Amino acid sequence: MDLQAIVDRIAEDIAPHRGEGRVADYIPALAKADPNKFGIAIATPDGACHRAGDAEEGFSIQSISKVFTFALALDKVGDALWHRVGREPSGTAFNSIVQLEAERGIPRNPLMNAGAIVVTDHLIDNGDADAAIERLLSVLRDHAEDSSIDIDYEVAMSESATGARNRGLAHFMASFGNLENEVEVVLSAYFRHCALSLSCAQLARAGLFLAFDGKDPVTGERILSSRRCRRINAVMMNCGHYDNSGDFAFRIGLPGKSGVGGGVFVVAPGEGSIAVWSPGLNEAGTSLVGALALERLVEHTCWSVFS
Ligand code: GLU
Repeated sequence: MDLQAIVDRIAEDIAPHRGEGRVADYIPALAKADPNKFGIAIATPDGACHRAGDAEEGFSIQSISKVFTFALALDKVGDALWHRVGREPSGTAFNSIVQLEAERGIPRNPLMNAGAIVVTDHLIDNGDADAAIERLLSVLRDHAEDSSIDIDYEVAMSESATGARNRGLAHFMASFGNLENEVEVVLSAYFRHCALSLSCAQLARAGLFLAFDGKDPVTGERILSSRRCRRINAVMMNCGHYDNSGDFAFRIGLPGKSGVGGGVFVVAPGEGSIAVWSPGLNEAGTSLVGALALERLVEHTCWSVFS
């Protein structure tokens, strides 16, 4: 299969749609994104990366970072993670608080904000949020074989300055005893990991191990057990796009995670990992043109896990 021809064709096909969707404007730093941007990259086990459009340009990966913190926490604490967070779809928005009261401070899943905040709490030892972020950065740089990956501190500060809802979620969970570290310590790490800036090419490469049962097919390094990798993919399939997860599975049929910066990361098990970016979002916060591009990709490759 000529994947380079496929990504070139997808970039051409979606060109008339560039600029569609609504750019996230809940923080000024994200509202500045150019809605006409579009990038796609596919990382494959031979170490190649097929790219088209703005695939080299860094963007705010936002909630896609939750996949990497989830993987780190599962590796660190194992099944104990499930005592403090569930693994069911929420059917609600990314920052929803409604279920938390009835479910006694246990968030539905690790990929919605409340769940990701609990996951981040697991990564912080001795109240040291900086060390947790350093570790995450070093892991991502290793996976992507790219030491230039970093946090966009303007976005992180903006997230914190407008973070009333996330503070609400965190305090609410703390009131049920579901946070071990101070709320502000956990949130300082959470805001920073949401503000990670990666290009499609870096993101696809960083997550390649998730398409290969937890083992990086290029370096041969085992990053996660195959059992845990399968579980992350299952949670991504059911919960990766909030109340848009069912539609995403229906249309694309690949485990994935969206971010309000307009990125979407998906894995095609046994084939490769894919990152797309286009800042305009649909109602549920998934990149509108990014999802169109992924639909085309699955039509061309038949990579849907339901094929
Ligand atoms: N940083 C965003 C928030 O916590 C993440 C939302 C997303 O990307 O879906 O509000």
